[in-house]
Amino acid sequence: MSYINPYEVAVKRLEDTGKLLNISSDVIEILKHPRRVIVTSLPVRRDNQKIDVFTGYLVLHNPWRGPYKGGIRYHPKVDLDEVKALAMWMTWKCAVADIPYGGAKGGIACNPKEMSRGEIERLTRRFTATLMDDLGPFKYVPAPDVYTDEQVMAWIMDTYSTIKGYSVPEVVTGKPVSLGGSLGRREATGRGVAICAREAAKILNLDIRKLTIAIQGFGNVGSNAAKVLASMGAKIIAVSDSTGGIYNPEGINPEKLFEFKSKTGRVSNFPDAKNIPKDEVLTIECDILIPAALENQINGKNAKEIKAKIICEGANGPTTPEADTILSRNEVFIVPDILANTGGVTVSYFEWVQNLTRERWSEEEVNSKLEQKMIKSFYDVYRTAEKENVNRRTAAMMLAVKRITDAFEKAGLFP
Ligand code: NAD
Repeated sequence: MSYINPYEVAVKRLEDTGKLLNISSDVIEILKHPRRVIVTSLPVRRDNQKIDVFTGYLVLHNPWRGPYKGGIRYHPKVDLDEVKALAMWMTWKCAVADIPYGGAKGGIACNPKEMSRGEIERLTRRFTATLMDDLGPFKYVPAPDVYTDEQVMAWIMDTYSTIKGYSVPEVVTGKPVSLGGSLGRREATGRGVAICAREAAKILNLDIRKLTIAIQGFGNVGSNAAKVLASMGAKIIAVSDSTGGIYNPEGINPEKLFEFKSKTGRVSNFPDAKNIPKDEVLTIECDILIPAALENQINGKNAKEIKAKIICEGANGPTTPEADTILSRNEVFIVPDILANTGGVTVSYFEWVQNLTRERWSEEEVNSKLEQKMIKSFYDVYRTAEKENVNRRTAAMMLAVKRITDAFEKAGLFP
């Protein structure tokens, strides 16, 4: 597959949306540019005492609706264009979910699979200390993303709090519950994806309890979407991770698969399924496909082969524009990323509110608030699509850009 620059894709989508909404090209020009871009070198002592220098990125895209919010990704392929695109996506996502945040993203080019826990901790603390001036509860509030988790968030909070001299739990979300994390946060993105998949099925007059699901990626988003969908009665028939895929038309128990993957580090060789090549999971016969791994996985090459009736995008940017055209021709119902995966940032917002108000909400309260928010966002996008006669990806973008530019029009341009 030829290289697709995610930032160029994100800018093109913004320009197209600006034209549809008849928004001044000046405002679109502002939105094309991230407010602040930081590229920093991070020297870290390895366990063998040698020092390696990693590259870290922080892109603060737009603050018009509130403090910057967005996950931090640790992955060997992290680069500036990817982080810029992801930061822009966060701006749209927070607006679609209608939570008072702007968009940002952090990333470090590293391979956490080849690093010890101590090395990851030193890298995380160095990154946090380097970004002290940009982090903050009303500046930039990070959260987990690919290959970062609650533990990484705990180190960020601890480093920030230590340097400040007092405890600042609201500087980061997706923390362990014992440090002020929200109940329900860990599962929230997957839960939101499952809610969207269920609502999309309803629109197509399908009963979620009779549907089969294929999931690409069995990390935080994929595994939790699988668990919640299975609890709704759907049948998970195929799952992949970066090392391989598995298939069982009779259904895979996601709880057991999660235990298996926690022990072995992979989904392959799960006793209740047969191994298949990981990319086959995308094109397998199923009702709902959930991409929950990385960008550009559904592309011009494989889109024609996709048999699912619904694609619910757990990952950020899993579908290329070329694939979008093919899928819409084939009448596949797409729930776009900036709607489908907003469950995580929504419960991150709930976590931040709990931290700022020193409250603790029950898991039932969090899940019920999340359910209401997801359903509201889903139908806001659905109705915009119907009203404007556009697909749901375009509708989600229109909704987001309209909400953001409305905020800008009221605030005006300083000076
Ligand atoms: P994660 O690191 O927990 O899991 C990623 C999974 O994808 C792993 O199982 C990995 O093995 C798998 N994977 C990687 N390459 C693959 C490939 N080529 N084929 C199949 N599987 C592959 O990450 P996550 O937090 O679950 O994030 C997944 C996606 O969801 C990312 O695009 C992320 O930006 C997006 N997202 C995450 C959150 C969140 O709250 N964690 C929120 C919104 C969006």
